[in-house]
Amino acid sequence: MNPEIEMVTPTAVRLPDVVPDAATLAPDKRPVLSVIVPIFNEEEVIPELHRRITDVLDRIGEPWELVCVNDGSSDRSVSMLTALHEQDARIKVVHFSRNFGHQIAITAGMDYAQGDAVIIIDADLQDPPELIEEMFGKWRAGYEVVYAVRADRRGESRFKLWTASAFYRLLHRITDVEIPLNAGDFRLMDRQVVLTMRRLRENHRFMRGLSSWVGFRQVGIEYQRAERFAGSTKYPLNKMIRLTLDAITSFSYIPLRLSTYFGFFLALFSLLGIVIAVVLRLSGNNVFYGQATTLVVVLFLGGIQLIFLGIIGEYLARIYDDVKARPLYIVAKAYGFADPRDTPLPPAI
Ligand code: UDP
Ligand code: MG
Repeated sequence: MNPEIEMVTPTAVRLPDVVPDAATLAPDKRPVLSVIVPIFNEEEVIPELHRRITDVLDRIGEPWELVCVNDGSSDRSVSMLTALHEQDARIKVVHFSRNFGHQIAITAGMDYAQGDAVIIIDADLQDPPELIEEMFGKWRAGYEVVYAVRADRRGESRFKLWTASAFYRLLHRITDVEIPLNAGDFRLMDRQVVLTMRRLRENHRFMRGLSSWVGFRQVGIEYQRAERFAGSTKYPLNKMIRLTLDAITSFSYIPLRLSTYFGFFLALFSLLGIVIAVVLRLSGNNVFYGQATTLVVVLFLGGIQLIFLGIIGEYLARIYDDVKARPLYIVAKAYGFADPRDTPLPPAI
């Protein structure tokens, strides 16, 4: 081997927490449709969710699998999912060792899903499973990503609606990727898109952004977002803020550039101030006096600097997490996968 080439080979190769390709099912054994459902304490909705999803999938009439990712639930979801798998082998379950968050649960689902078309849907039935039929039609017509656009959101608080709309508009303005407005994670992706997205292993993930980033032929279909079927939201304000920060830092450098813009503005402004102060001083009109002025200006600038330091910190922390290269999630048990991933698994393969 050429020694020069050897030298540039990276020493720390990131181990994917994805299963090696050899473990994927042969094409004739793969289902056509995979539905991924992230589940975090959803015991109230699981029976109805199961009924509605299997109804739709049976109606479509293609071989399917349902991949439930239990994101560290502490309620009866765990035993309910295991029972569903025992009844019907097409229902497969990945149990995380703890709560890793919604976006990571979706990621794991995409790592495990084997279908030619992969659908991501929330467990709470706010996304109507019946829409899968229409998505499937679009996929058959040649689209590789079919995302669902919320035309109307019922049963959500005014605060949630307002913050959601501000979130989508802000993201649209400042990101470099065309992320569709009012589209959540509810979408269908072709296997090729899923395989491409499996290669994106960043820690702080904004899946709908990544799904736009990869490109391919994409189309949106509108739907009415329903009320949560039962239970309460698993996205409290702090998780929403975290997701927003992940979305912005993943797809925009504008927050970092803001400090440059602000610096230029302030430098010009103070240059003007210096000239004015000198002129006034020379003409004998000394209007700049008192400690208060100095103190306020210094404190103001100190505040601004800390804010920008914090912004840099947000990016830095994400770089740090990616450099540590920990696995994105740890699987405690997996049921229903006809390959070495089946339970019991060593953590973090
Ligand atoms: N979820 C998850 N892990 C979490 C939080 C939520 O897997 O840490 C799942 C949850 O079970 C649901 C989906 O993500 O299937 C969306 O959550 P939810 O409906 O509570 O969010 P909202 O619609 O209120 O934004
Ligand atoms: Mg919901």
